[in-house]
Amino acid sequence: MEFYLKCSLKTSADPTVAKEAIAQIMADAETGILAKGAPAGEGAKIKSWSLGDNKINLELTSGKNVRVHDAVLRVRKQVADALGKAKVGVRGIEVDTFTITVPSPHDLKNKNIPHVKSVLFDEKAQTLCLTLDVGESEMKNQVPDRILTLLEDKIEQDEYGAKAEHWHLLWESEDRPFHYVDDPTEDMLKHGWLKRGAGRGQWIHGPASTKLFRTFEKIVVDEILTPLGYNEMIFPKLVMWDIWKHSGHAKGIYPEIYYVCPPKTRDPAYWEDVMDYYKVTREVPTELIKTKIGDPIGGMCYAQCPPCWGFFQGETIAKDSLPVRVFDRSGTSHRYESGGIHGIERVDEFHRIELVWLGTKEQVVETTQKLHERYMHIFNDILDLKWRKAWVTPWFMAQEGLAGVAADEVTGTTDYEAPLPYRGKDGEWLEFQNVSINGDKYPTGFNVKCQTGEQLWSGCSGVGLERWTAAFLAQHGLDPEKWPEEFRKRFGEMPKLVKFM
Ligand code: ATP
Ligand code: ZN
Ligand code: MG
Ligand code: MG
Ligand code: MG
Repeated sequence: MEFYLKCSLKTSADPTVAKEAIAQIMADAETGILAKGAPAGEGAKIKSWSLGDNKINLELTSGKNVRVHDAVLRVRKQVADALGKAKVGVRGIEVDTFTITVPSPHDLKNKNIPHVKSVLFDEKAQTLCLTLDVGESEMKNQVPDRILTLLEDKIEQDEYGAKAEHWHLLWESEDRPFHYVDDPTEDMLKHGWLKRGAGRGQWIHGPASTKLFRTFEKIVVDEILTPLGYNEMIFPKLVMWDIWKHSGHAKGIYPEIYYVCPPKTRDPAYWEDVMDYYKVTREVPTELIKTKIGDPIGGMCYAQCPPCWGFFQGETIAKDSLPVRVFDRSGTSHRYESGGIHGIERVDEFHRIELVWLGTKEQVVETTQKLHERYMHIFNDILDLKWRKAWVTPWFMAQEGLAGVAADEVTGTTDYEAPLPYRGKDGEWLEFQNVSINGDKYPTGFNVKCQTGEQLWSGCSGVGLERWTAAFLAQHGLDPEKWPEEFRKRFGEMPKLVKFM
């Protein structure tokens, strides 16, 4: 990897007055300021320098340590001190050429990167030429470093392709025969349990499937939330960009967001032509509406926990309040799913209970352990499911478009999956919920601290009610007579269904 920067430090007057001092700085730099923090011999190098008309020309090269933009800031500081004595100021850094060369086995698919003028591929490396507007403030704000990280991620991702997610089995229940092998969604439709909603991937649940959802919720409340001390909260469901910037989702969820745009004004006169158009044509003029709404302010709830962090943001939490254990079930989640929307299991509008816990690393790990135990009890003793647990790519890597697993062995996501017998013996298993230890990602991202100064960690778990229903019905069928006794007890009587003539 190589960085190359040709630039000049603009000065307020002729820099020749401090010629000797500057020469000394340049002579000492490679073994002094440009070596600091780098392994021996791996700091930045000065390829050339010269004094010009109210400027100092500078050519720097570096590897990944003390990168050229960091190096030029270090040189600038010393030069500014030397020139200051002669009452000459440094006005800024003017870039002439800034390139980053990274080894790469293949060309990039998408070369449209902010602050990058061109990307050249020569069989084994990519050379990025940055635009000239990358100045001092971009250098201070680590823009070149982020460009490099982005490039490395892209190269890695292009290599992994679609099979990017990591998967590793942790536990699986014993094999068993299934007496029911139909597609429960089809069956539910036939029996009048639900109907398709007007929207894409949206359902209207009638009394029977709604009662199933509520029974699952009650099981979660009685078997997990109450005994383990989780308190209910209400998290916002319209999520602003700022939240997703802090949570990391702003890096990758764009293809799946349902975007929200507010009206430019609520003045009825401004909207009169829209109303009139509809009244006359009975068509909603969506093109006209587009001109009257603002930019998207964010989107509908995607993952449930990010907006809860606004509650803790910027706070220092008392040690005796930890671990904090809360949950939300106050509204729907929305995702623009790909062609894969199927039945009730992959939908664009879904219902989920989200558990969030926050504490020291030990508290978070222990809380997670207890949760896994309670889930095991529910799926084995109450729902009597065949299911398994797998260690997968953590959500924050998956949703930021990265592959692999987190660096340590504790942080990451466990998926709970169940087979759907109607998909055949080797059919794809359905992820019906997840449990994640997110490390310090959220407390750091939202600047939440502990009274004692200990590092805070957090975890979360999303109980997908559509997914529980899909797994339960796919394995047990729609006939309550055939449901496990422990579940039937909790479900009670089947509600009377509406008969359509
Ligand atoms: P999948 O791999 O099936 O696309 P996911 O990994 O994208 O799911 P998460 O982001 O982990 O889903 O969300 C947590 C939980 O929310 C999932 O385990 C699942 O129970 C539920 N969920 C996610 N997407 C959907 C959906 N489109 N329809 C119904 N439930 C969903
Ligand atoms: Zn979460
Ligand atoms: Mg998904
Ligand atoms: Mg998944
Ligand atoms: Mg998941």
